[in-house]
Amino acid sequence: MRTREEIARQERVRLEKEQGDVQGELARVREWLRTEVDVDADEGDPDLFEREKNLALVMALERKLESVATALRAVDKGTYGICERCGEAIDPARLEVRPDATLCLKCQLEVERIAHRAASRAVAEAAPLASRRPKIIE
Ligand SMILES: [Zn+2]
Repeated sequence: MRTREEIARQERVRLEKEQGDVQGELARVREWLRTEVDVDADEGDPDLFEREKNLALVMALERKLESVATALRAVDKGTYGICERCGEAIDPARLEVRPDATLCLKCQLEVERIAHRAASRAVAEAAPLASRRPKIIE
């Protein structure tokens, strides 16, 4: 069985490659976004949908880059493969699929549930008073 140090060493190589790939993709999409801005306002922008899609892609890639960087920092600190939340070892099978995972599956699901709940609460609070009236149970 591989030791955590061996896994970390191999993951560094893999993460650095992934970092390079994501940076390349990001540069390509950003370049596309820069070159396609000369649009005649009167004619509308036929590429608007495409541009919005690429902007979303840029944000997703930036998030990915950030999480890869976090995983690389964990490799440096010797905490790679350890859940940031509960301190348990992350399932190697999970790391295989998500090498930049910083949470074990249990904590990941927990965090997502909390985030989801916070988001629904924010929506409920932003809703106008009328829609906040308690529902009548039939
Ligand atoms: Zn955990």
